[in-house]
Amino acid sequence: MSLFRSACFFKSVASLADAPASVGEIAFVGRSNTGKSSAINALTGSQLAFVSKTPGRTRLINYYALGGERFFVDLPGYGYARVPEATRAPWERLLGGYLQTRAPLCGLTVVMDVRQALTELDQRMLGWFRPTGKPVHVLLTKADKLSREAAQKILRRVEAELAVLAPNASVQLFSSLKRSGLEQAAAVLLGWLDARAPGALGVALGREPNENPRQDRGWRNKSPRAKRGNQPGAKCLKV
Ligand code: GDP
Repeated sequence: MSLFRSACFFKSVASLADAPASVGEIAFVGRSNTGKSSAINALTGSQLAFVSKTPGRTRLINYYALGGERFFVDLPGYGYARVPEATRAPWERLLGGYLQTRAPLCGLTVVMDVRQALTELDQRMLGWFRPTGKPVHVLLTKADKLSREAAQKILRRVEAELAVLAPNASVQLFSSLKRSGLEQAAAVLLGWLDARAPGALGVALGREPNENPRQDRGWRNKSPRAKRGNQPGAKCLKV
């Protein structure tokens, strides 16, 4: 069962001014090809994040609604060495601006391939985020590619390095392929949402906080946003 199974694609934004009203959101970031989309899909039990890979959306911030104005936020992958400066600069401004100023952001999930953890770019990302004082959770993905012992050794090394680089960070092994580490990751993310907006645990169960569990089906249709109809972003696409 996916804890965030009611997640659905909400909107893509190219500027912070277009970000939706939010009571709490968790961002996912990582070098391209580390398994960020797969991790989001594993956590939500959907193919949501592949929507963000469609041409034109790869440089945008993609919002996935969890219910109750809470969101997962898929940030553009970094590490495209060949991207020209003219393209990279506005994209880094968007990313940096989002990470440093977005008030509803509760915490940051940084996705790293367990075999290439804490690259220079990862460290730069953690450095950017550190002044916010907000928590970070590192997913060391593709753990299935290593033996248990080798993965544990890297986990301990990354833990030690993070203690210096990002004291607010926790870290775990993760595999979307084997679906391992899902509960541990979900517990951390739910904890952040719940600390920011008590009742978020209800979202995990697919219902609005304080809502009668007997009436919990179809919350999307009952939301004011859904009733407003055809405004941009009003549709919550389940993919
Ligand atoms: P993104 O660019 O960071 O969003 O990465 P993707 O989620 O698209 O994954 C990149 C590649 O890694 C794809 O071929 C995935 O199938 C593969 N991949 C992602 N997660 C895992 C995992 O946990 N284990 C293994 N073995 N492969 C994975």
